[in-house]
Amino acid sequence: MTETTASVVVLGAGAAGLSAALWCASLGLRVEVFEERAHSGGQLHEIPLPIENVPGLLRVSGTALHETLRAQVEALGVPVHVGVRATLRARTLSVDTSDGRTIHPDVVVLATGVRRRALGVDGESRWHGRGLLHNAGSDPSRFAGQRVVIVGGGDDALEHARMLAPHAASVTLVHRGRTYSARESMRAPVLADTRIERRMGAVVSAMEGDDRLRAILIREGEREARVALDVLLVCIGPEPASGVPGVSTDARGYVRVDRLQRTSREGVLAVGDVCSPEAPTLATAMGQGAIAAKTVVAGLTRWTHEGPRIDRLRVQNLTLPARIGAYEYERAITQTLVFDLTFELDAGEAAPTDSLLRTIDYASVAARIEALLGEQHFNLVETVADVAATQLLSHFGARAVTVRVTKPGVPREGASASVEVERRRG
Ligand SMILES: Cc1cc2nc3c(=O)[nH]c(=O)nc-3n(C[C@H](O)[C@H](O)[C@H](O)COP(=O)(O)OP(=O)(O)OC[C@H]3O[C@@H](n4cnc5c(N)ncnc54)[C@H](O)[C@@H]3O)c2cc1C
Repeated sequence: MTETTASVVVLGAGAAGLSAALWCASLGLRVEVFEERAHSGGQLHEIPLPIENVPGLLRVSGTALHETLRAQVEALGVPVHVGVRATLRARTLSVDTSDGRTIHPDVVVLATGVRRRALGVDGESRWHGRGLLHNAGSDPSRFAGQRVVIVGGGDDALEHARMLAPHAASVTLVHRGRTYSARESMRAPVLADTRIERRMGAVVSAMEGDDRLRAILIREGEREARVALDVLLVCIGPEPASGVPGVSTDARGYVRVDRLQRTSREGVLAVGDVCSPEAPTLATAMGQGAIAAKTVVAGLTRWTHEGPRIDRLRVQNLTLPARIGAYEYERAITQTLVFDLTFELDAGEAAPTDSLLRTIDYASVAARIEALLGEQHFNLVETVADVAATQLLSHFGARAVTVRVTKPGVPREGASASVEVERRRG
């Protein structure tokens, strides 16, 4: 086993990994890329129709875009090792590669993307590549004369149905829901295409075959039907290729990052689909590659906080109606109180912002204060601020809460009062 050093190691050579490598190299960093598949490009090879939403490019095929990206990276002398799986160790920032190397980089960039989800039907993995596919590739003519069944109701499934309908002997679209989740521009052409048979509220319950998949059983309510096929395309969405030790994820397995692409583990950044459930797009993947490189160059991959890490969230200009005052004429008037709040939470092992995302949202902060104002009568805004700070501190398990309340003057306009209260744990 040989041991080498490199400043940045990128895991995955899809759009995000190649963009991170391009940016790192162009900023003078030493960078190596590892790709477990036999070729780089990741999902760029799976996009069947010309892409029309990469800013700056009118219409481009996924494979052509990959070739350009790869050429750009290679022009800067970046080694892209294909067919090599790379694994980050749990305790040290060391990467083991399936070709027997161990690398000790300063920074690791996770650009491992997503995998296609399986149906979870018995024996499914047996048919992979033998009648069962997750993607049709970019040449639909190879499905000429074949009976194709597509499972799914999102963009991916409907895009495949649309692409294969002119070529295949038959296309059946099986979806467990009653409506498609695909965007309207995908839905409309599929609904209008009489070559596509649509089965809604239907699930694949079993598979049959010999050396390749020959048929599936489809359950629709109480009925079960056998459908003979040549190709089953399972397009039921992605799952993140995460599971890296010490790197925190959300409940679905997407890596949590802050705005500098830092994960919860020191020295480990993440870019692209593996950390972007909200916007898994090429523009996101490429942009995040640039952010990651800038983060490395600025030396910001190490946390600078001493002691426990703290997250701060400000809720500003939260306006709520209230009747405040010691005198009846004051209480007869509904006033608008303006709240400015600051929460401090222990970030613990999570990256800053993670702890806030898990615990505090604006709606629940507003609801708590609204309930408080409805429950009891307040003579003074000082008491409102005091009670609100004490309740919010314990409700959100915060280290500290600062509440500033401003109220317009009553009865004289312009004579406003503003008070600030801080409550701290311990
Ligand atoms: C059918 C389809 C249509 C799409 N249409 C559009 C569109 O119109 N516009 C748009 O903007 N986006 C579109 N997308 C999404 C876009 O392709 C993705 O957002 C983008 O390609 C994600 O790039 P990535 O590098 O993050 O991940 P991926 O492309 O998934 O690349 C990750 C790579 O990492 C490798 N890898 C994983 N683990 C390891 C490991 N341990 N070691 C080494 N290598 C590893 C994988 O093999 C893979 O090659 C589409 C996607 C699909 C599937």
